[in-house]
Amino acid sequence: MYDVIIIGGGPAGLTAGLYASRLGAKTLLLEKLTPGGQITLSSEIENYPGVCDVKSGLELMMCWPAQAQKFGCEIKSEEAVKIQKENSHFIVKTPKNEYKSKTLIIATGSTPKKAGFEGEIEYTGKGVSYCAVCDGFFYKDKIVAVIGGGDTALEEALYLSKIAKKVYLIHRRDKFRAAPVTQKKIFETENIEIIFNATVKKVFGNQFVEGIILNLNGEEKELKVDGVFVFVGMKVNNELVKDLVELNEWGEVKVNLKMETSQKGLYAAGDIREDSVKQVVAAAGDGATAAINALKYIEKEEL
Ligand code: FAD
Ligand code: NAP
Repeated sequence: MYDVIIIGGGPAGLTAGLYASRLGAKTLLLEKLTPGGQITLSSEIENYPGVCDVKSGLELMMCWPAQAQKFGCEIKSEEAVKIQKENSHFIVKTPKNEYKSKTLIIATGSTPKKAGFEGEIEYTGKGVSYCAVCDGFFYKDKIVAVIGGGDTALEEALYLSKIAKKVYLIHRRDKFRAAPVTQKKIFETENIEIIFNATVKKVFGNQFVEGIILNLNGEEKELKVDGVFVFVGMKVNNELVKDLVELNEWGEVKVNLKMETSQKGLYAAGDIREDSVKQVVAAAGDGATAAINALKYIEKEEL
């Protein structure tokens, strides 16, 4: 019987593993890929406090698993495929094993949806981005395209308009689905040019993005841009817990300030939880909060 099982080895899960094991809890972390999480896809991360020289996501995350293991956190390369609550404890199934715990921390993160244009994957990290807060700074006084018509695309376009020289906002229909108040701000921002009824056919460049080809009203149009930001929705990785805990209308796990979910003993941390700002530092903070409160719960309930 473990005190804590953590599912997901991104910044939230690894920090939870570090805190829980350092506080003396018998801790297991399950990660289906290599530990590190989605930030390992990013070529540069400049906003993790205390790490002043620019590092890639992979470099930043390199020592996190070992730091948790140093205090006894077991890390296994296994995918959790099912979670069950039985009396006061949890059962986590992987394709080959079954583990039991007194508490559970779900930290399976989120995945940005792809728009599906040619070159999208090849140029990710080389001009195609899914995070304006993370990468916007690299486009100071440059030209960027933002794809999408929802709240995220419009809010991020406004954010980018304060950094970039010009923002093309490209939407596949002639109406945004974002809140009217946000649309109003978009229409009033001089350096945002809206292109309706357009989809991106392909992105081109050499080592880095140099432009895009649009399908616009049945014709192809070339636009010179330095970067492409894709905001066509996020997939919250909630499959394992969607029948166990309350979710909000976007599928994010509802939590309180202790990262407690609606299921006793089950905590959520990082991108998967409601109102997450979807940043590494925030995910790490959530992981620490969840682990500390999980151990307080074990003590209080005398499990
Ligand atoms: P994740 O990092 O998504 O980790 C979740 C982990 O759970 C993954 O490793 C996944 O494999 C694992 N997992 C999922 N399901 C299972 C399962 N069933 N069983 C076992 N394991 C499972 N943030 C910043 O602060 N600064 C940046 O500059 C920045 N740049 C970014 C650039 C890119 C390209 C991307 C995609 C994101 C960027 N972010 C950045 C956001 C940041 O990466 C996330 O906010 C952060 O990684 C969230 O951490 P997490 O631990 O909640 O989830
Ligand atoms: P979203 O509302 O699902 O919007 C996705 C947008 O991307 C839509 O405009 C959609 O077009 C477009 N799209 C989808 N697939 C595409 C593709 N393959 N190619 C081109 N365009 C594509 O996603 P979101 O903006 O991330 O928001 C998610 C939820 O969070 C929403 O409910 C939103 O209201 C909420 N949210 C709220 C706030 C806030 O309250 N401040 C901020 C951010 C997000 P169509 O319109 O044609 O479908």
